[in-house]
Amino acid sequence: MATWLVTGGAGFIGGNFVLDAVGRGVKVVNLDALTYAGNKDTLASIEGNPNHVFVEGDIGDRTLVAELLAEHQPDAVINFAAESHVDRSIDGPAEFIQTNVVGTLGLLEATRDYWKLLEDERQSAFRFLHVSTDEVYGSLGETGLFTETTPYAPNSPYSASKAASDHLVRAFHHTYGLPVLTTNCSNNYGEYQFPEKLIPLIIAKALAGAPLPIYGDGKNVRDWLYVGDHCSAIRRVLEAGKVGETYNVGGNSEKQNIEVVRTICGLLDQRRPKADGTQYVSQITYVQDRPGHDRRYAIDASKLKRELGWEPAHTFEQGIAATVDWYLANQQWVNRVLDGSYRLERIGQV
Ligand code: NAD
Repeated sequence: MATWLVTGGAGFIGGNFVLDAVGRGVKVVNLDALTYAGNKDTLASIEGNPNHVFVEGDIGDRTLVAELLAEHQPDAVINFAAESHVDRSIDGPAEFIQTNVVGTLGLLEATRDYWKLLEDERQSAFRFLHVSTDEVYGSLGETGLFTETTPYAPNSPYSASKAASDHLVRAFHHTYGLPVLTTNCSNNYGEYQFPEKLIPLIIAKALAGAPLPIYGDGKNVRDWLYVGDHCSAIRRVLEAGKVGETYNVGGNSEKQNIEVVRTICGLLDQRRPKADGTQYVSQITYVQDRPGHDRRYAIDASKLKRELGWEPAHTFEQGIAATVDWYLANQQWVNRVLDGSYRLERIGQV
């Protein structure tokens, strides 16, 4: 069975990916700095599993990464670790540069040095897979789709830092021959997403009876992909992707933010009707738009379908219903994030 070094595996997508991989019998060394976005509660079901080795640490710590690579001899490195929230990047871009650019560089250097010393067969089978975003391509008008050849035009400090990391990954292939793969994916949603992102935020606020904040006119368009489908795309690219290539990953599911929020409200009306008989949509409140807010993202994932046979298994309607059900059934996970106890325990304060 394979051994993978996964970074950022206590976060939203990385956590889902690690749970799935360990469930399939892969040995995962999970390197995560446990920033505010890292949550070991997500990994509770695999605690004590000999196929999951959790290491708290920074991807930019070359010495630590080199030690982990030497000790565990992975067949692949999959890089999810990042600062990932656009609003936070507007308030404080420096951390985004530190982790997403400088950190990724450290991870690449340590991986290159490890990979160079592998014996021939393992060296050619080795992969470094970098998980990135469609936000690197900038914003679209009413029509058109991002393809793998769309020029990069990042607009937020977050997307600029991810664009820089994508370029470094590409450069490590062209300069040093490191066998890299890059995936650029649209907006994810699903289990274990930190409740600062649109979908879990709206569910939590709706249930709390709080206003549901919508940026601007609510007509910004995003393509939405269920997290389990993103994880299956990454596994497929890892298995069969062509070294040095980039693959766009998307859900063929363009929605305006206001449509997403209305859908969640409708699902909650059915599942958890309000005692006062009002509907959740009555909590919607429009707030001042995010500065530089990209209007529309839409992704052409046909290369992944054509070349590697991958397609999402869930429609938006299926995925969003499953997600609302998961949040309703896992209020404790959400509450421990909202009250901060998921972090206090980690640093021994409870
Ligand atoms: P997240 O913020 O939920 O998780 C990030 C994880 O990385 C956290 O566990 C955090 O503790 C860890 N981390 C942060 N800095 C680190 C460092 N210096 N060293 C080690 N670990 C560190 O993010 P996510 O939504 O799961 O996104 C994962 C990756 O997927 C990111 O690279 C993001 O750019 C990309 N992506 C996300 C989406 C999305 O919709 N969420 C879409 C496309 C691509």
